[in-house]
Amino acid sequence: MESKTEFDVIIVGLGCVGIAAAFYCTKMGLKVLGIERFNDTGSIGTSSYGFTRIWRMCHPDLRYNDMQQEAIEVWREIEQRTKKEILVKTGFVWIGPKDHPDFKSVVDSKQGEFMTNQQLKSKYSGLSAIPDDLSGIFVENAGIVRVQNALQGTKQLAIEQGASLKFNTKVQKIDKVKGEVTLESGEVLRAKNIVVCCGSISDQFYEKGIFEMRKSPQETYVISDNSGLPPTMIMHGAKELEGFDLYALLDGENLQNYKFGYEAEATDNTKTLPILKKYFPTKYEKLIHVQPCSYAITEGEEFIFERKDKAIYAFGLNGRGFKHMPYHGKRIYHLVAGNQQEADKYKKSRNIPIQSESKMQEPIAKL
Ligand SMILES: Cc1cc2nc3c(=O)[nH]c(=O)nc-3n(C[C@H](O)[C@H](O)[C@H](O)COP(=O)(O)OP(=O)(O)OC[C@H]3O[C@@H](n4cnc5c(N)ncnc54)[C@H](O)[C@@H]3O)c2cc1C
Repeated sequence: MESKTEFDVIIVGLGCVGIAAAFYCTKMGLKVLGIERFNDTGSIGTSSYGFTRIWRMCHPDLRYNDMQQEAIEVWREIEQRTKKEILVKTGFVWIGPKDHPDFKSVVDSKQGEFMTNQQLKSKYSGLSAIPDDLSGIFVENAGIVRVQNALQGTKQLAIEQGASLKFNTKVQKIDKVKGEVTLESGEVLRAKNIVVCCGSISDQFYEKGIFEMRKSPQETYVISDNSGLPPTMIMHGAKELEGFDLYALLDGENLQNYKFGYEAEATDNTKTLPILKKYFPTKYEKLIHVQPCSYAITEGEEFIFERKDKAIYAFGLNGRGFKHMPYHGKRIYHLVAGNQQEADKYKKSRNIPIQSESKMQEPIAKL
């Protein structure tokens, strides 16, 4: 089956990246078709599923704060135009050993206010069992992204601006040289640019030796009691965490629950549950469900935004891509428009290098 329709951009995958690209490209006047295999953006099984995410102006590598700032500007526009609340400002607490390089770098660069172990425990009763060698940083300019409002608001505006979005439609094949997308039905669609942003769940477009990515399975643990805990937090560098992060935040449609995630790259209850039990004994009993999920992880945990022929690959957002969602859309637009310098402005690390203790394992696929 053939189709002659030519678009400026076909976006394959409408997770947070794809829907943001549909919004920004149509805002800039481009003719856009978005294709998603599931029945909506942010469906269960994708990385963008859920109620909440953390946003924060706090990172050892300062370009992530720059991206956050650009994202906030677009979020505010989307909030204003849709009348949907997206960013809830609650503050954020980073917990870690005082002498850990990442922790030190955010303190030294004055991104937050230092809190002693005692101050943490007296302000947040739910943290009373954390080890005595951990301290905190409170960052005011941070909080929660309401995922559903973010995705649905952005989708609404993309459609109003003229985007055609096809759901329940799986892409079978992409020809990056011809700029062709073949659907499962056999229909072939063409565009000047094909944006490939399939997150971690689809590997049929991976091309050996170009980019490296692996799928990292994760789990989140939802607890029915959010009292006495910081609205959003990350614990990084604690001994039992073995170099991985434990993050936690308010969850649920009305922020009535609390969600923990341990980024240990495994759906492994035997690792996570003992940590929750030891560090959060008053909350452990309130566990209501465990949600499997996955990240797309790249070497050095760098985001990938690259053009190859007519294809633009946008993926590898690891466990921290949602907070920058509207900026990803803008960056993709710049790649489409040929503004390479603008698209690459955050490619190089700024100031303080990330001290990652986790090593890249064997990739499961190459993109
Ligand atoms: C539990 C959890 C907690 C997180 N917490 C935070 C946080 O606090 N702060 C933060 O900033 N980030 C966080 N993240 C990370 C962030 O959510 C992800 O980086 C982001 O959602 C990735 O979006 P994506 O669009 O790249 O991928 P996805 O959301 O996975 O989107 C890819 C889309 O492509 C579609 N697709 C795949 N193959 C095909 C095909 N063949 N045809 C058509 N469509 C296809 C999929 O169905 C999917 O909709 C978290 C992630 C998880 C899982």
